[in-house]
Amino acid sequence: MEAIVKDLNECFINGEFLNSSGGVSEVFNPATEEPIGLAPVADSDDASAAIHSARSAFDHGTWSKLDVSERARYLQRFHDAMVGLRSKFVEIIRIEGGATCSDAGMRQFDLPLKHFQACIKKGQTDFSRNLPPVISGNPELKFLGSGVVKRIPAGVVLAISAFNYPTYLNLAKIGPALITGNTVVLKPSPLTPFQALLLGQAAKIAELPPGVLNIINGDAELGLQLTTNPDVDLISFTGSDVVGAKIAQQASVSLKRVLLELGGKSAVIVRADGDLDMAAQAILKGFTSHCGQGCAIFTRALVHNSIRKELVERVATIAKEIKVGDPADPKTTMGPLISASQRSRTEKYVGLATDSDAKLIFGGSRPNEFRKGYFYLPTLFDEVSNSDTIAQEEIFGPVGCIIGFDSDEEAINLANDSKYGLRAGIITKNVGLAYELAEHLKVGHVVINGGSLTSMSELPFGGIKRSGYGREGGEEGLLEYTYSRAIEFHAG
Ligand code: NAD
Repeated sequence: MEAIVKDLNECFINGEFLNSSGGVSEVFNPATEEPIGLAPVADSDDASAAIHSARSAFDHGTWSKLDVSERARYLQRFHDAMVGLRSKFVEIIRIEGGATCSDAGMRQFDLPLKHFQACIKKGQTDFSRNLPPVISGNPELKFLGSGVVKRIPAGVVLAISAFNYPTYLNLAKIGPALITGNTVVLKPSPLTPFQALLLGQAAKIAELPPGVLNIINGDAELGLQLTTNPDVDLISFTGSDVVGAKIAQQASVSLKRVLLELGGKSAVIVRADGDLDMAAQAILKGFTSHCGQGCAIFTRALVHNSIRKELVERVATIAKEIKVGDPADPKTTMGPLISASQRSRTEKYVGLATDSDAKLIFGGSRPNEFRKGYFYLPTLFDEVSNSDTIAQEEIFGPVGCIIGFDSDEEAINLANDSKYGLRAGIITKNVGLAYELAEHLKVGHVVINGGSLTSMSELPFGGIKRSGYGREGGEEGLLEYTYSRAIEFHAG
């Protein structure tokens, strides 16, 4: 079959697209299993070249020394170049990542661009701090001292991203890293390299200085080479907790700073007084959006036993409206999983749930109508015990579970009984009580009745426990890419 993506088969290093020494490999459309193009595969020479380029740009180039308003101008041009490439991005997000048309356009392109722009704006804040004057010495001779705390860039940032929401993840790293004066080497998932490489085209259009942004594609072996290279100062990683733990270990030898945005098994608590329509939508979306391939989605629904039966029926009713299929069809509302192995993983967990005391409400198999594509039906289990494997493990497929509870205290305990701690939701009419309950949830982010829907660019996002450490977004996310430097002086 003729390749669809023809101009992204080289690495982006030092401001140029270059043949990779490691050759190329095919990338596949998960909805059709057809190849969509050839992506560069970086080897150790490419890895060294990319890191050398970022190192030189940081140590000897102007980027980190520019006034932040100058960097903001470059990044605004970069933003505008991406917007100019919108239709190409959106098509690639769809054919490479299996995103539905509306998801690819709005959630996977427009939203990250909005956050990117907010990051450019926020990044121009002066985060330096003047210390109050201090008097020391003795009564005969007193000294006046003071100081200032400045923020300086960390250096060369290695950004490693996951296959789900790649443009979102890539920009959530590149934005704060670049505006604060770092240089970047980006390594995307080998399942979704084109969305990352397309950023190189935008960087060229925006005339970002050479070496400021480098993009190379490869697998875990390349990741190992990059994470152990002494010229990398900070690693910003998004992916599974298992790989996150490996990266922390790999980085420890050269004592790099590491930010880890890892997996989740987020719970939404539906109290007896919760709006049932809102709850049904939240539960269904929680395990079906992007075919369940989201880190922060609500894959555990904790439902008060007095409303559980009715709520399960409502979820089952609205689930019938989901149209599984090839995202090439604009009517499709749920596309495929990213790969055959991701579907096997889903099938393994559904098998375990079927063998348990959990009750299958709908789904539980592949749809019959497709001969190709990694499709799986939306699948819901009720009467799940929180200790069951499907309630504890991140499946990353369209599988949800309903767990009953009888008191708020029990709900909080169930929500916290997880190795992860990324996000939680509460649905109730009693918003004041929800606010109090939120204080007891061991997660990085709590959403009450769907949240504010407006201020996401300002919010720090990230987890605790095995969901990782470090934050993306808001002021916290910017400062992650900086060090503080204190300068004290004798004022007289
Ligand atoms: P993954 O952990 O398998 O891979 C992530 C990245 O790490 C890929 O680029 C991969 O090539 C690279 N990698 C693998 N082994 C490596 C090694 N030893 N050294 C360096 N790099 C290595 O994750 P995935 O399957 O691509 O994505 C799904 C996971 O990502 C889920 O667990 C999901 O929850 C998580 N995720 C988290 C967030 C968040 O913000 N918390 C967002 C999206 C996805």
